[in-house]
Amino acid sequence: MFRALYLEQNADKTTAASIRSLDDSALPAFERNGVTVDVGFSTINYKDGLAITGKSPVVRKWPMVPGIDFVGTVSASDDARWQPGDAVILNGWGVGEAHWGGLAEKARVNGDWLVRLPAALQPFDAMALGTAGYTAMLCVLALERQGVKPGDGEILVTGATGGVGSVAVSLLSRRGYRVAASTGKAAEAEYLKTLGAQEIVDRAMLSAPGKPLQKERWAGVVDTVGSHTLANACASTRYGGTVTACGLAQGMDLPVTVAPFILRGVSLIGIDSVMAPLARRTEAWEGLAQDIDRAALALIARRIGLAEALAAAPGILAGNVRGRLVVDVRQ
Ligand code: NDP
Repeated sequence: MFRALYLEQNADKTTAASIRSLDDSALPAFERNGVTVDVGFSTINYKDGLAITGKSPVVRKWPMVPGIDFVGTVSASDDARWQPGDAVILNGWGVGEAHWGGLAEKARVNGDWLVRLPAALQPFDAMALGTAGYTAMLCVLALERQGVKPGDGEILVTGATGGVGSVAVSLLSRRGYRVAASTGKAAEAEYLKTLGAQEIVDRAMLSAPGKPLQKERWAGVVDTVGSHTLANACASTRYGGTVTACGLAQGMDLPVTVAPFILRGVSLIGIDSVMAPLARRTEAWEGLAQDIDRAALALIARRIGLAEALAAAPGILAGNVRGRLVVDVRQ
């Protein structure tokens, strides 16, 4: 038997979330490459908040165990690449949406979806980073692939106190960039400065409709917010600069004109963590193991139990959770 956060769909299409004790035989079957993992830690991401509250139809199969990421140890494997005892990480691939996820003591997944836990990363730290940290690193790597360098100027991070934003601020600062952190939480300015932000930008300066072209300021942007914030970020990016878009905390719309792209050669790069190829995942996780500041991680992450994960879901949607919630699935 193992404990799991369990989602069912009510007749009126609302979601019922509870903690259940399930038999191992309930774990999903795979025709090939099935791997069973004793989950150590999972996390609560924005998407998990949507799944648990049922606010948005992210769950594509019922019943569902949510949790889009986890770290754990292989306990059984039909996949020659994975042996019992291997320490593994999983992010995305529709886990927690179309396949049972990490908010449980056990998971069974396809071996293709697993990444080896880098030797330098403790399991708790891997989930303190989680999908948010891995996505932040995908953004940083994308900026660097576009040629953005620390000497080029300021990098704007939006939604800076969120999971992706917090890790992005810390990583960029560790890599020598000057970081401007945009936040709606003035009281968290010290937190962001401790993570390495040199400047705090009031979220309100970016979130309202703005002009198509504004004063050139950013050499690069990590945007977790979308909507007018992303439009304003594009409009104030310097000639030849790069904007990475990974989130939609403000909205899914993008009320931008072509002006920044055709007059300033600004590049807008989309970042997807869910279906990213294995090589990019491995590069991101190895980079995180190397660059992450463990003191920053202690500030970013808070450990909670499975029952608290249920309670935390509405808060993450309301945007009032600071940093990362790491779920100890045995707690
Ligand atoms: P969090 O909820 O931890 O952080 C989001 C932050 O955005 C909040 O903390 C807040 O920061 C800011 N925010 C919230 N509401 C608004 C609003 N209405 N207007 C402007 N800013 C707002 O989420 P994550 O960091 O985990 O994820 C951020 C986004 O990235 C989400 O939209 C998520 O779905 C997406 N995402 C995408 C991935 C991908 O593969 N592309 C992977 C992971 C996440 P502050 O108060 O500091 O402004």
